[in-house]
Amino acid sequence: MKAVQIKQFGVEHLAIADLPVPKPAKGEVLVRMKAAALQYLDLIVINGAVMPDLKLPHIPVSEGAGIVEETGEGVSKWKPGDRVMIHFVQEWIAGDSHPSTNAIRTGLQAQGTLTEYICISAEALVRSPINLTDEEASTLPVSGLTAWTNLVTLAGIRAGQTVLTQGTGGVSLAALQFAKAALDGYNLGRGEATDFLTINFACTDGVGHMYGPNSIEIEDTYLRLDKDLANLFQTLDQKVGKGQWLLFLTADHGAANTVGFMQEHKLPGELTSPSRLVDSLNRRLNELFQVSGLVRSISNNMVNFDVNRIYSSALDFDAIKKAAVDFLQRQPEIVIAVDISKVGESPVPEPLKTMIGNSYYFKRSGSVLIVAKSGQLEGFYRTGTSHSKWNPYDTHIPFILYGWNIKPGHLNRTVNMSDIAPTIAALLHIQMGSGSVGQVVTEVIPAK
Ligand SMILES: [Zn+2]
Repeated sequence: MKAVQIKQFGVEHLAIADLPVPKPAKGEVLVRMKAAALQYLDLIVINGAVMPDLKLPHIPVSEGAGIVEETGEGVSKWKPGDRVMIHFVQEWIAGDSHPSTNAIRTGLQAQGTLTEYICISAEALVRSPINLTDEEASTLPVSGLTAWTNLVTLAGIRAGQTVLTQGTGGVSLAALQFAKAALDGYNLGRGEATDFLTINFACTDGVGHMYGPNSIEIEDTYLRLDKDLANLFQTLDQKVGKGQWLLFLTADHGAANTVGFMQEHKLPGELTSPSRLVDSLNRRLNELFQVSGLVRSISNNMVNFDVNRIYSSALDFDAIKKAAVDFLQRQPEIVIAVDISKVGESPVPEPLKTMIGNSYYFKRSGSVLIVAKSGQLEGFYRTGTSHSKWNPYDTHIPFILYGWNIKPGHLNRTVNMSDIAPTIAALLHIQMGSGSVGQVVTEVIPAK
């Protein structure tokens, strides 16, 4: 039989090997594989990042589906021709998981599914759903288990709680199924009061960070998200009724093109290193104040000082911030550096002044804020961008209100995500939340 193996770690070392077809031992089943599904875990196993002590050669990949070919002695549960999925945590049959049940996992401690035949314990198989193809069934074992573990075992969901799903991959699709089940289970949208269901599709964030808006990866992610949303809306139409539900959809930020993409297209784009900037700023402050390590970090464009060290050394914090601003403003990648507590009296143009003021919270924020030149991206990721840029690529986000009592149309004026809550409150004729700072988007509210 043919199988894909690694003899040493690294995707480049995947190779097809000719191996004897294994014989099922007592309690085992021989499965002829029909489909194997790939996930991120497989990549990091193959690259040696998960189990560096993995015994090689190894057949990777943790999910798959196939057909029972032969059963070993004592197996009555399965017969040749049965369609089965390969269980990921092979010895976890029921009840809570604990570390000992994790000892044998497909594609990790046990042989994986990238093979024509696999011998496996009869208990480690699950019947494939009849409405799914082998390819479809092969994607379920790990994602279904992950969604179940997160929602049921870890979160302990109970009636009345809101389900939040992250990502648009297999795990979130499974979680989306649970959310849809909640429509029935909790009778959402069928009582006197307004019910509220939030779903977080966070995969657009991760993929946006890694690959940027012009990538095939983000296109693929949005095509899938679009399908998932259509499916959810159809379900809402069926269960709650057309025109009886109101949707709002938004995002916490956008995404920048990757530096590689920008350079390829002759646009300004460069990776900056916050840690290098911390080092050079600390050297400068040490020259001036004779105390080392006054800056702890620069993150999300904020400079975080070691306030305890500053006060215990009886230094003047205002003087340190002023020296830091002077130094940072002279760096080529920086357009503005400002002591946030003095932004009102600083020559910072609107609307940046308001944004900086809005993003400042004394108990958590750094004390000096940096605005980098457009296209300067913090180099936390090998590709893609971080957060907290004022530029439209990061702040221009979806803002969709749809459904019950919404007057259709498009708006080109600036609206903010903080306008959603007061708009919904206005539609429901209720008081807006106590911390609400947004404005009602009056254009969507129909005339009486
Ligand atoms: Zn993000």
